[in-house]
Amino acid sequence: MKITLVETDALRMRMRRETSEWRWTQLVLVRVETDEGVVGFGEACPGYAYTGETAATVTAVIASHLAPALIGRDPLAVEAIARRWDETGVGNEAARGALEMALWDVKGKVFGRPLYELLGGLSRRAVPETYPLDREEAAEELAARAGALHRDGVAVFKLYLCPGDERELRDDRLELVAALRDAVGPRAEIRVDANQGWGTVARAVAGIKRIERHGVAFVEEPLPAGHLEGCRRVRARTDVPLCLDESVRGPREALAAVREEACDLISVKLMKTGGILGALKVNAIAETAGVRVHVGNMGHGSVGTAPVIHLHAALANAVSSDTDPPWRGGDFARDLATGLETQTVEGVSSMRIPQKPGLGVTPDESAVAEQLVSRTRITAAGRSP
Ligand SMILES: [Mg+2]
Repeated sequence: MKITLVETDALRMRMRRETSEWRWTQLVLVRVETDEGVVGFGEACPGYAYTGETAATVTAVIASHLAPALIGRDPLAVEAIARRWDETGVGNEAARGALEMALWDVKGKVFGRPLYELLGGLSRRAVPETYPLDREEAAEELAARAGALHRDGVAVFKLYLCPGDERELRDDRLELVAALRDAVGPRAEIRVDANQGWGTVARAVAGIKRIERHGVAFVEEPLPAGHLEGCRRVRARTDVPLCLDESVRGPREALAAVREEACDLISVKLMKTGGILGALKVNAIAETAGVRVHVGNMGHGSVGTAPVIHLHAALANAVSSDTDPPWRGGDFARDLATGLETQTVEGVSSMRIPQKPGLGVTPDESAVAEQLVSRTRITAAGRSP
């Protein structure tokens, strides 16, 4: 089997709750076709502030470098393809992650098995639905939204203490943790993401001590990215598990973080690791060091959220994930694919683990056409347009 076509669709996705900051988000849908008619899909959610990539750079790098190295190759040889990318370039993990995801989708369809089966099989029966609270400014607004969701079965909430593009955490945001706990009751899970906002060890320790009595599952990235020694000191002085996100992109940073004993958890994201193989390497390093992984989400549509669910379902060392279903937590006005669903498991809204071969999702061509900015096709004959 040979890859004959790589197609990228740059999409401008409309958000359901429009604010001055959030009206749309950029995604890139990737399509890989083979000479035997098998088609795989992947999705990049570049997020410039986080990955340094945009839909334009993802599209350009796939067209000029990553896709030409794929045409004519066996799509099942994912490891050899990833090694080739390693040897010929650096960075651009969102572009790589999207394309590699599509190769796994092809592989699942060729073998007729869902992705989680290729990653080790089911390690758990349920992957809870999660909801990100990242735009609410007032405690009343946040409590009303979270309370309504909780009555609908949503039992896991992630509160972003630095909303939007803020990089400096305001102390008044900490009061939202108490409001959220009041709204959702004692059994719901609350995670807190500081997005590097605490600045210093002293401020992080003081902040965590203010919120820990409200029952926080973990605090993510309290200090500026890469401050591993500081994170080790925060851990020594607080009792809430510490999760590293921006500080750990791939295996190299994972190794440094576990050597420094800087975290209890590592957030694994395909847009940081450049794909599933990289995610498995980060997980292997973490698991060997006695550190658990959390499977993160960059704000994906259904194509990019599917592997989050498969990874959480398959990895025994994964304790949690940000599933943020695109039609609810993800907040897309119109998702780009179908196939993901929620179901209630023991009273908790959970993601149904996709059972169709590969990622288990199918692009909605009309939703894609409606939000399409540009389409690029790469074949053996070259690139168009
Ligand atoms: Mg984070």
